[in-house]
Amino acid sequence: TATRIHENGNELPEMPFFDYTPAPYKGPPASDILKRRKEYLSTSLGPLYTNPLNLVEGKMQYLFDEKGRRYLDAFGGIATVSCGHCHPDVVEAAVNQTKLLQHTTVLYLNHAIVDFAETLASKFPGELKVVFFTNSGTEANELALLMARLYTGCNDIISIRNGYHGNAAATMAATAQFFHKFNVVQVGIHHALNPDPYRGVFGSDGLKYAKDVQNIIDYGTCGQVAGFIGEAIQGVGGIIEMAPGYLPAVYSIIKKAGGLYIADEVQSGFGRTGSHFWGFEAHGVVPDIVTLAKGIGNGAPIGAVVTTPEIAEVLTRRYYFSTFGGNPVCTASGLAVLRVIEKEKLQQNAFLVGSYLKDRLASLMEKHEIIGDVRGRGMMLGVELVKDRESKTPAIHELQQIFEEMKDMGVLVGTGGFHENVLRITPPLCFTREDADFLVDVMDYTMSKM
Ligand code: PLP
Repeated sequence: TATRIHENGNELPEMPFFDYTPAPYKGPPASDILKRRKEYLSTSLGPLYTNPLNLVEGKMQYLFDEKGRRYLDAFGGIATVSCGHCHPDVVEAAVNQTKLLQHTTVLYLNHAIVDFAETLASKFPGELKVVFFTNSGTEANELALLMARLYTGCNDIISIRNGYHGNAAATMAATAQFFHKFNVVQVGIHHALNPDPYRGVFGSDGLKYAKDVQNIIDYGTCGQVAGFIGEAIQGVGGIIEMAPGYLPAVYSIIKKAGGLYIADEVQSGFGRTGSHFWGFEAHGVVPDIVTLAKGIGNGAPIGAVVTTPEIAEVLTRRYYFSTFGGNPVCTASGLAVLRVIEKEKLQQNAFLVGSYLKDRLASLMEKHEIIGDVRGRGMMLGVELVKDRESKTPAIHELQQIFEEMKDMGVLVGTGGFHENVLRITPPLCFTREDADFLVDVMDYTMSKM
């Protein structure tokens, strides 16, 4: 691709070469789809998505609109596309299973379901070897909280204020960062201080934040709890790494209070953090329950709860079932994903390219005062924008401008954080060094114009 010229006459960074031509688009125009979306689809999306792209094809780390324009997908769906859009191995597995048997349930035997459960379980340490499939991250977390409550006989759950765990009853209540605006509360769900090294009250002192969890147990419960749920790196919350020492300290506090430790790996799993296959492994804890979704199926609607045989036993006390959970087309996709991650060394790629990308993003801080913080691991990175570094006032309007401008120049990123001032970078794990350079050059270019 030749160097492109922006409508303002400036030369733009060159997009990496990619040998793929999308099929000619035969669908309705974008304006018509937008008009009908407004009429027939219920969405509550913010200003960034009022004029969205019309995406018609995906190939690995790239997306194409109806005019055949190419976009680097540095958001990876929403951290859902682990191997790359329409990865041939995953497509083949899904197509083959669709032709064979599109749906059955765990009421019957089918090897596609068990094959994936067995291989998935082999990726976990200790006794984490029983899998329950769900359709989403929300359902996985709802089930994890239910299991913790049934297993312990307690009701109290502790989550972190800035975490995100889903949009059903218990998970909404556990997600304090914005669902409380809907006035969703549930008895027994408590929110602990966010151990955020950049904005948190105790800076990087993980042990002080952990003390807050102990205080909640001492002052807000009978002394016994059902469990704790937390992400290793907060995704929706703005790519926030837990302050050092926090998770291991919370682990022992929760254990002493008789509770279960639930690791929400919906975003941080499947090698995304680069250094480890699961985010919790970087903290030296072995959870009692792990929840999965997003990258598990490269975009297929599937989630999972992984736990020990002893904890899983609680579900046999009652009838607990999901019609689509463990659908064989989804589990066939999931198995293909695990094989691709291994075959193509995607975790290692996430580490190498992700570290390179993080370094390059961090070097932009010398040039652009608007960048308050660069953080994250592997291919789960965040760039927090502030009006000035002293006050850390969130640069929300500027973020919207940068987001739009980067989109126009062919780079899609995500946004998030409590203040909506964090650019989230969670590309498919096949992202290359050249892609990383292009992303940084485009970000640099847009920031230089501010
Ligand atoms: N947990 C985490 C960490 C998430 O990021 C999300 C979604 O963004 C969920 C749970 C909920 O998953 P889903 O949207 O598939 O229900």
